[in-house]
Amino acid sequence: IADGLQRPDLVRRQAYVAGRWCDADAGETIQVTDPATGEVVGSVPACGAAETRRAIEAAQAAQLAWAARSAKERATVLRRWFELMLTHQDDLARIMTREQGKPLAESRGEIGYAASFIEWFGEEAKRAYGDLIPGPTRDRRISVLKQPVGVCAAITPWNFPAAMITRKVAPALAAGCAIVVKPSELTPFSALAMAVLAEQAGVPPGLLAVVTGHARPIGAELTGNPIVRKLSFTGSTAVGKQLMAACAGTVKRLSLELGGNAPFIVFDDADLDAAVAGAMASKFRNAGQTCVCANRILVQAGIHDRFVEALAAAVGALKLGNGLDPGVQIGPLIDDRALDKVRGHVADALAKGARQIVGGAPLPPRGAFFAPTVLAGIEPGMRVLREETFGPVAPVTRFETEEQAVQMANDTEFGLAAYFYSRDIGRITRVTERLEYGIVGVNEGLISTEVAPFGGIKESGFGSEGSRYGLDEYLSRKYVCLGGQ
Ligand code: ADP
Repeated sequence: IADGLQRPDLVRRQAYVAGRWCDADAGETIQVTDPATGEVVGSVPACGAAETRRAIEAAQAAQLAWAARSAKERATVLRRWFELMLTHQDDLARIMTREQGKPLAESRGEIGYAASFIEWFGEEAKRAYGDLIPGPTRDRRISVLKQPVGVCAAITPWNFPAAMITRKVAPALAAGCAIVVKPSELTPFSALAMAVLAEQAGVPPGLLAVVTGHARPIGAELTGNPIVRKLSFTGSTAVGKQLMAACAGTVKRLSLELGGNAPFIVFDDADLDAAVAGAMASKFRNAGQTCVCANRILVQAGIHDRFVEALAAAVGALKLGNGLDPGVQIGPLIDDRALDKVRGHVADALAKGARQIVGGAPLPPRGAFFAPTVLAGIEPGMRVLREETFGPVAPVTRFETEEQAVQMANDTEFGLAAYFYSRDIGRITRVTERLEYGIVGVNEGLISTEVAPFGGIKESGFGSEGSRYGLDEYLSRKYVCLGGQ
C-alpha cells in the first residue's frame, strides 16, 4: 500500500493510542483488503477494551490544557493540519483507493473535502460566541458560556474513510474537546495517515487517538466509559440504535448519521439534461455507496421515457475498473457482502416484473465489481424501494401527480437526503416544504459541503455536521446567573 508514495511513512501499521504508535496488547492484527483485487494490502492492530481505555484516559489528561489554549492557538494547529492534508493529497488519495476502491479522482476529491472541515472548524473556533441576556429582575445578570463537551468518541464507516473522520474530529478539536476515533476495520489506513499529519501539525499527544480493531470491544468501551461525554457515529441505522442504547447507561450526548433511502424526483417540467446529470452524480458517486445517494428514482409520466433513455445512455458509458487506472469512473464495491446485497436487490426486482434497461456489462476478473444498472418498472413491494441498495443500481418508478410523488418520497422510515428537479417556482416551494428530510437538493445532485449542516431526521438520526451548527455539537451551554448586582 506504500508503493509509489512520496511519503511512505504515511502508511502506519500501528494504532495511535495515548500519543504513541503501538501494537495491540495481545499482538493480534486484522487484515485490510483491496476490494478491486481481493489482495491483502496490510494489517493493523486488533485493539480491544484495554487499549481503548488507555486512549480515553490520555484524552482526558490532554483535554484540559487544550481547552485552556485560546481559540486562535487551536485554530493555528488545525490550519497546519489542513495544509498538510493538501500537501499530501495525492498520497492520501492513493492510500484511500487501495483500501476502499473508489476511483483516484474521487479519492483526491474526498481528501480535499475532508481537509475543508479542518479549515472551516479551525476558523469557526474563534466564533463560539455566548450570550448576554437581559435579566428578569434588576439585581441579576444572565450570561451563557459555550464550553467544550470534554472527551468525545467517534465511530466511522468505510465509505468516506477520511471525511467522516474530519467532520467529527475537526469540530471536536476546534471546540476544545479531545476525541478517540474508531475507524472502520475495512479502511483504517486512511485514518492512521491523517493521524500522522495531525501529529506533525502539532496536535498534542493523547488529544486525538485512532484505535483500530474489532468493533464490539472498542465500541463497548467507548459507549460504556463514563469519561466519554459524547459519541458521534456515522453508519447503519441498526448499529446506531445499538450504540444509542449502550450510551443510555452514562447518558452521553449523541450525534447519529445513519442510513438513508433518498428519493430523486423528476417532474415533467424538469430540465432533462440537468436531471440526468444530477442523477448520475447522486447515484453513481462512490459506486452508489453513500448515505445520500439517490436510492429511488421517481419520474413523472410525461418525461419518464425520455429520462430513462438518457439515463441509460449515460450509465452505459460509465467506465468500470480498478480505481487506480486512468479514466475509471466506477470502482468495486467494498466487499462481497455488499455485492451479495446489490445482486439480491436486482434479482428481487427482476423476479417481480422490473425491466433491466442497462446492466450486466463484463466485469474485471477479480474484485467486488457490479455493473452499473438501470431498472425500470419498479413497483411497491420490491426491496429496492424499501432498503438502501448501496450500489450502482438506478431503479426508476413512474408516477402521475405531484401529490403521489411526495407521498411516495415520504413513505420510508428514513429522512436523510431527498432531491427533485422542477422549474416551477410554486412547485419548488411546495415540495421542498413537504419533503420529510434533513437535506433537500433542488435541481442539484451533489449537496455535500463543509459550510452547510448535514444531517437527517426520523431513523436517519440527528445532529448536524459541518456549518456553524456542527461546532455546537461539541459545545455545552452553561447558563450563569449573577445575582446581588
Ligand atoms: P456499514 O454498513 O456502513 O458498514 P456499520 O454500521 O456496520 O455500517 O459500520 C459503521 C461503523 O460502525 C464501523 O466503524 C463499524 O466497525 C462500527 N460498528 C459496527 N458494529 C458495531 C458495534 N456493535 N459497536 C460499535 N461499533 C460498531
